[in-house]
Amino acid sequence: MSSANTQAKASQLVSAIIEPGSTIGILGGGQLGRMLTLAATPLGYRCVTLDPTPDSPCGQIARQVIAAYDDVEAARELAGSCDVVTYEFENVDAGVAALLEQESYVPQGSKLLYTTQHRLREKRAIEAAGVPVAPYREVTSAGSMQQAVEELGLPCVLKTVMGGYDGKGQRVIRHLEEVQAAYEELNTAGVGLVLESFVPFQCEISVVAARSTKGEVRTFPPAENIHVNNILHASIVPARVSEELQARAEQLAAQLIEGLDAVGLLAVEMFVTKAGEIYVNELAPRPHNSGHYTMDACATSQFEQHIRAICGLPLADPRLVTPVVMVNILGEHMEEVLKLLTSTASQTATEKVIPKLHLYGKSESKNGRKMGHVNLLCQDTEAAMQWIEQTNIWRNH
Ligand code: AMP
Repeated sequence: MSSANTQAKASQLVSAIIEPGSTIGILGGGQLGRMLTLAATPLGYRCVTLDPTPDSPCGQIARQVIAAYDDVEAARELAGSCDVVTYEFENVDAGVAALLEQESYVPQGSKLLYTTQHRLREKRAIEAAGVPVAPYREVTSAGSMQQAVEELGLPCVLKTVMGGYDGKGQRVIRHLEEVQAAYEELNTAGVGLVLESFVPFQCEISVVAARSTKGEVRTFPPAENIHVNNILHASIVPARVSEELQARAEQLAAQLIEGLDAVGLLAVEMFVTKAGEIYVNELAPRPHNSGHYTMDACATSQFEQHIRAICGLPLADPRLVTPVVMVNILGEHMEEVLKLLTSTASQTATEKVIPKLHLYGKSESKNGRKMGHVNLLCQDTEAAMQWIEQTNIWRNH
């Protein structure tokens, strides 16, 4: 297809309805791509993914273009075989994003990727949407670091503005003697730094919001997130905060997704203080681990909602049907999970907890690697927390 034609294709299709039978391209073939494919399939869509690893979790159930994420020719091949393109991770290469926007239909655009790839841009965008973030200062030199510490006070958290995930690229500073070491350690990345006030949070929650190409917005109920070693361990829904606070969290997420003019999913991670204040910590413009509970516990999953949003279909009912606790399965948990799966005694759901297992098809099971999750459907989330305690699987936590 010539470039003029493909540009015309892109502009004509803006906010078009992508009908069942069409092909959805997914940049990234990990578990999020796999679960998007699992949700798109019963709606009648086909999926094709681009991922460098053969037999990726998504490539096991969708056609896969095997190539590096920054391979522009491969992205062109993906674009050529799809009616709409989405992504399952936020670090999409700028060149690939630009090509896809030119030559295919990417309703999510690349502006939000640009914003969420960088903590300072992200914080400024959140504030511009009228939503609170913890006080912060840009740090550009040892001098500005000292000044930022004086202004914000201790404790505080120093973070690299790019490339950090699962707690990497950040240091909590509790004493003045730690300031210089933290600065010198993180400044080596050469990507810029931001200093934030440490929020003495009562709990961390997240809301997954969806906005369709037609501008319709729906939000999922907040999940209360428990992290272990900076990796999400469990999400508890309903979150153990007041209903008023849950409603406010959903309202803030809706305000953000509209303010950012985003299409598709936006996961909003928040801190909740004892006084009931909410501060947004981070955004992810994609399906989120803390939204996996929706697969079994909501009328619609986050993955189906994303497909609907980018295809211009009406958004579906996100309501919670049952209390649930989602618990992640990491590499170190796999042996015990497989024992449980293959033991006949454990196949009967208990009266109080119904476990629903999701494995991602990853062959290599490394420590800390996300291999799957279990959604524990329950009458009350305490019973599900006890189930987690009582199995041997997460005993090291
Ligand atoms: P992040 O990479 O920003 O998601 O941070 C990872 C984790 O570090 C969060 O989930 C929090 O538990 C903790 N954390 C990050 N920033 C702050 C902060 N400003 N105050 C308190 N805890 C924080």
